[in-house]
Amino acid sequence: MTSEDQPERSGGWRPKHPVIDGLIIIGLVACLIAGYEPIKVIVAAGAAWLILRIGVLMLGGMARPIPEPPPVGELRKVKITYRCEICGTEVRMTVAPDQDPEAPRHCQDDMIMMTPIDDL
Ligand SMILES: [Zn+2]
Repeated sequence: MTSEDQPERSGGWRPKHPVIDGLIIIGLVACLIAGYEPIKVIVAAGAAWLILRIGVLMLGGMARPIPEPPPVGELRKVKITYRCEICGTEVRMTVAPDQDPEAPRHCQDDMIMMTPIDDL
């Protein structure tokens, strides 16, 4: 994160979603030019804005930020072999955030740990 990512502290009002606002304004102007009744156009633009904002809010709620990886010094050296039961692929994990990492996935399924537990 740089200081450029931070919103301006005293820099006046800035739209949160300029794309949505811009689309609504373009649609509103286009409908007015096309000769629709201004009141209907404004009501429709307001409804469209609300629907888009709610949609963006719901999408934002679903999106989980990916946690940052821990610094290299905190990573553990491991030597674990995993095998995909479906296609037989084997991989070796050499570095992990902890001594007992989650199994990687292959062929959309968790891989099976091949290294005996005693060797961890
Ligand atoms: Zn596989």
